[in-house]
Amino acid sequence: ADGARVPVLVIGTGYGGSVAALRLAQAGVEVHMIEMGMAWDTPGSDGKIFCNTREPDYRSYWLRTRTKAPLNYFLGFPIDRDIPRHTGILDAEEFAGITVYQGRGVGGGSLVNGGMAVTPKRENFAAVLPSVDADEMYGVYYPRANSGLGVGLVDPAWFDTTACYQYARVGRKHAQRSGFPFTFVPDVYDWDYMKQEAAGTVPQSALAGEILYGNNQGKKSLQKTYLARARATGKVTISPLHQVTSVAPAAGGGYTVRIDQLATDGSVTAAKTVTATRVFFAAGSVGTSKLLVKLKATGALPGLDDEVGKGWGDNGNVMCGRANHLWDPTGKLQSAIPCAGIDNWSAGGAFAEVAPLPTGIETYASFYLSITNTPHRAQFSWNAATGKVDLSWQTAWKQTSIDMAKTIFDKINAKEGTIYRTDLFGVYKIWGDHLTYHPLGGAVLNRATDNYGRLAGHPGLYVIDGSLIPGNTTVNPFVTITALAERNIEKIIATDL
Ligand code: FAD
Repeated sequence: ADGARVPVLVIGTGYGGSVAALRLAQAGVEVHMIEMGMAWDTPGSDGKIFCNTREPDYRSYWLRTRTKAPLNYFLGFPIDRDIPRHTGILDAEEFAGITVYQGRGVGGGSLVNGGMAVTPKRENFAAVLPSVDADEMYGVYYPRANSGLGVGLVDPAWFDTTACYQYARVGRKHAQRSGFPFTFVPDVYDWDYMKQEAAGTVPQSALAGEILYGNNQGKKSLQKTYLARARATGKVTISPLHQVTSVAPAAGGGYTVRIDQLATDGSVTAAKTVTATRVFFAAGSVGTSKLLVKLKATGALPGLDDEVGKGWGDNGNVMCGRANHLWDPTGKLQSAIPCAGIDNWSAGGAFAEVAPLPTGIETYASFYLSITNTPHRAQFSWNAATGKVDLSWQTAWKQTSIDMAKTIFDKINAKEGTIYRTDLFGVYKIWGDHLTYHPLGGAVLNRATDNYGRLAGHPGLYVIDGSLIPGNTTVNPFVTITALAERNIEKIIATDL
C-alpha cells in the first residue's frame, strides 16, 4: 500500500526474483514483490488463461496494437495481425538494432519460454561466469536449481515413436548423418502430461501450440514451482500491474521506491511510494539495466559503478529454417516444447535447438534456434533528450552468429542436398537476425556489483537476475540465472541480514 515501510522489496517476479523471495521468506523475512505484468491467474471468456500461437489475441502482446511474431512470415506472407492494446504476456521491446522478447507477468520469462532447462557444460563455465567457483556451482547450486525448477528429460523410447516429435527425429537424423553430436535437451514441461496429451486423454497444451503466449497445462512455470513455495510460507505478497519507476535513498535510511499502478490498457491509475530497507533488482537484464542506468544518470543513485549498463549480450541467438525433401516430412502435429539439440559449440561456436513449427500443417521444414559464441557486447545509456534508455547493439553484429550457425547448417544442407528456407523471416530472407529471446548482462557480477550482486555505493541494494551474467551462457540461460541467484541469496542471507 502507498506509504508502507517494508523490510524487503523485490522488483520483478522472474527467476532471480522468485529465488530471492523464496529463500528470504524461508529465512523469516517478509517479502513484497512488485510486478509490472498481470497475475495470469484468471481465465478469459474462452475458459483459458493463455491464448495459443495460432490465434494470438488481446492476451498475446504487451501494449501493442499488432502482433510481432518472432517468425513473422510464412510462405513469404506476413502473418502478423491487429490486436487490442492490452497488458499482454509477451513484450517485443524494440531497440535501434534488436528486438528483445521478454515475459510480462507473475513468473516473468517462465510464462512465455520453451522451458528448455540446460546446464552449461562444465568445461565452458569459466567463460560464462569467470569470478564464480565452478565446484560450488556444479556441486550445490546447479543441482538445487534443477530440482527447484522441476527439470526432467523426455522418455527416449517414447521420443522414438511419438508423432509429435517426428520433427525432432528428422533433426537428429540430419545432425548425426553430418557427424554432429546430438543431445536431448531437458525441460520443465511435465513429460507424463505430454504423453497423455498424445494419447488424447487430457486437454492438449504443448500439442496445441501453447508456447510464447503462455501454456495452460503441462509447463511448470515459476507460478507452479518457486513462487508457489514462496507463497506457501505466508511471508510473500505480490503486486501485479505495478511498475517500479524509481529507487532512491530515503531520509531515515533504506530506500524510497516509486511505483506506478497500471490498468490493463497500460494507463497509470495510481502513483505509490514505499520505503524498503533492502531492494532486490530482479526486473530482468533489460528491466534492471534500464532502471539502474536511469537512476545513476539522473542522480537518484549517484554511487552506482560506471560498469552499470555495460556487458550486455544476446546469447548469440539466431534462427533459421531448412527445406527438407518430400521423404522427410516433419509432421503436422508438433510438440511446442523442444527436446533436441545439436552441439557444435567447441568446434564451431554454435549450439542449435531443433525447434518446432507448430503450424498444424505439414511444412517439410526443419527450424532451429542457435545459441552462438558471439564476442559482441552492447551498452545501455541514458538518453536525456528522449527520457529513455538506449542500447548500442547493431544488427550487423549478428553476422558473427550467422557464420557460427552456418558451421552446422551449411554442412547438413550439403550432406542432405537441401537448402535454407527463405520464406520465414521475410521475402528471400534466410536468417532471423533481428531479435533475441536471451538478453543477458547490463549489471555484470563482480563489475557493476560485487561477487554476490551487491551494488556498489548503496548498501542494501542488490541485483539478482540475468543482468549479472556477461552476455552469454553457451546454452539457454534460465538454469544458470536460477543457480546463480541461489548462490548469491545464500551468501546475502548468511552475511547481510
Ligand atoms: P525475467 O524472467 O525477465 O523477469 C523479470 C520480471 O520483471 C518480468 O516479469 C518483468 O515484467 C518484471 N519487470 C521488469 N521491469 C519492471 C519494473 N520496472 N517494475 C516491475 N516489474 C518489472 N530460457 C531458457 O533457459 N530456456 C528456454 O527455453 C527459453 N525460451 C525462451 C523463449 C522466449 C520466447 C523468451 C522471451 C525467453 C526464453 N528464455 C529461455 C529466456 C528466459 O525466459 C530468460 O532468460 C529469463 O526469464 C530471465 O530471467 P530473469 O529473472 O533475469 O528475468
